[in-house]
Amino acid sequence: MFRCLPLCAALLAPLAQAEEAASLVLHNARIYTVNADQPWAEALAMDEEGEILAVGSQAEVEEYADDDTEFVDLGGRLVLPGFQDSHAHVLDASSEAQGDCPLESDGTLEHWLDEIAGCAEQAKGEWLLGSGFSLHTLLDSGESPRALLDEIAPDLPIAMMEETSHSYWLNSKALQLAGFDGERDDPEGGVILRDPQGRATGVVLDNAGDLVMDKALPPSKALQQVYYQAVLDGQDELARNGITSVADARVFWRRGHLEAWQKVAREDRLKARTSLGLWAYPQLDDGEQLAQLKALYQPGDEDDLLHITQIKLYVDGIVHNTTARLRQPYQHSLAGVDPRGLYYFGPKRLARYARELAASGFDLHIHTIGDQAVRDALDAIEQAGRGRHRLTHVELVDQADIPRFRQLGVIADFQPSPYFTPSFLKDNQPLIGQRAYQMLPMRALYDSGARVTLSSDWDVNPLSPLGIMQNALGLGSRGLPNLEAAIRAYTLDAAYTLRQEQRTGSLEVGKQADLLVLDHDIFKLPPEQIGQAKVLWTLLGGEEVYRAPGF
Ligand SMILES: [Zn+2]
Repeated sequence: MFRCLPLCAALLAPLAQAEEAASLVLHNARIYTVNADQPWAEALAMDEEGEILAVGSQAEVEEYADDDTEFVDLGGRLVLPGFQDSHAHVLDASSEAQGDCPLESDGTLEHWLDEIAGCAEQAKGEWLLGSGFSLHTLLDSGESPRALLDEIAPDLPIAMMEETSHSYWLNSKALQLAGFDGERDDPEGGVILRDPQGRATGVVLDNAGDLVMDKALPPSKALQQVYYQAVLDGQDELARNGITSVADARVFWRRGHLEAWQKVAREDRLKARTSLGLWAYPQLDDGEQLAQLKALYQPGDEDDLLHITQIKLYVDGIVHNTTARLRQPYQHSLAGVDPRGLYYFGPKRLARYARELAASGFDLHIHTIGDQAVRDALDAIEQAGRGRHRLTHVELVDQADIPRFRQLGVIADFQPSPYFTPSFLKDNQPLIGQRAYQMLPMRALYDSGARVTLSSDWDVNPLSPLGIMQNALGLGSRGLPNLEAAIRAYTLDAAYTLRQEQRTGSLEVGKQADLLVLDHDIFKLPPEQIGQAKVLWTLLGGEEVYRAPGF
């Protein structure tokens, strides 16, 4: 980066003719603005508050300079509006609370058991927590999952989260502490897998796993510090990836997550505009929970970086566990799971939550993977009235529901992760048959005129927006049609989702200078290399929040 102040600024800058002088001018750049009226520009001027004063040719923008203006020569590099990730788990992804016993999902059972035994020897906490194993490798072994862990440590509760985060592997002690050991019904939104004798096998699915974690992570001062540090660490990762706005997709407000976010915001240490999605707990009483959620609504002012304006709600689970809710049964589902999948929130409760929370100002961020879950969520939103609600994942959509997204103004949010390859689709065939090849109907929704966003679901997937965009293009006829569409899905349309498209999402006069500079021009790279481009510089409202070493 070449900065010149004040000597060469005087050489470059004519006397200011505009009303307000720029504090900073970026020039000699290739600026893709995401403004349809003026997609490309060479230079951009901003004032001290980070508001964009001018975008255009070098000459047009220089009119806003005076003797005090700082000029930055970007050497012809590409500038984009800051990315907006409308679904990331910033706190959880950066948190050590989930444990420090990582397993490789493509490892063998023997290898995992060795790893867990090593972790158990070193364990300092009251629980041994870890993550990363593969559910099907464990179940296909034919061994008793709980007995395998009991052999390692009968008295130390062990809870290992599976790679997708939708199931847990537990020993007897953990089952007992969670209250899952005896005869009991499955919890709302969860399943306790059982052997033919009705005994818990040591694998629990979906919300049953979250209930275990509620037991393992009761709020404490020490954990509060862990969450606070996680939010801080997450800020650096966001800025490094050029992300200037984010929606945290699951705030466990009963575990202390909300306080951690609020503390970081109070200390003015946020590096991205943040919208929090408060988790709707499936197991709570509806009247009480709705009253508590409504009391937490806090849109704030437009200058604030923290907004509590969203509700994260799961309708169903995932195909992999046969817990995604389908219109037609699975070909094979896990024993103990309803042949059509499960509900975290069934249609009636969902409709009530949508109606009451939308009326209180919240936008809904709804996890839907199966086609029945998508149908139910669209029905609930139709009754609730318009808002900026989105369905996230949307892996299976009945043909009849495709046009309803546009009609109802519902945003379709996709995470075309690196794992979403043709072979991944094929892997689902034993579970759902030919429907496997209809998964992720991104192009059909895009072509229908629905608003489509891309997001990471970090750390289920890597955080890099460029990597996700590369995958969205790499899906061929199922993916987004071109790079412009992929950028828009990560900028202006995500800004609409976060109710800030008047202030961010594109580089236009009057908006905030949230932007990034890339080391490569992704418009000139083959689509399969976009993900290798690196962010060099990230500005939030004109303030530097990240600069790559050497730039
Ligand atoms: Zn997620």
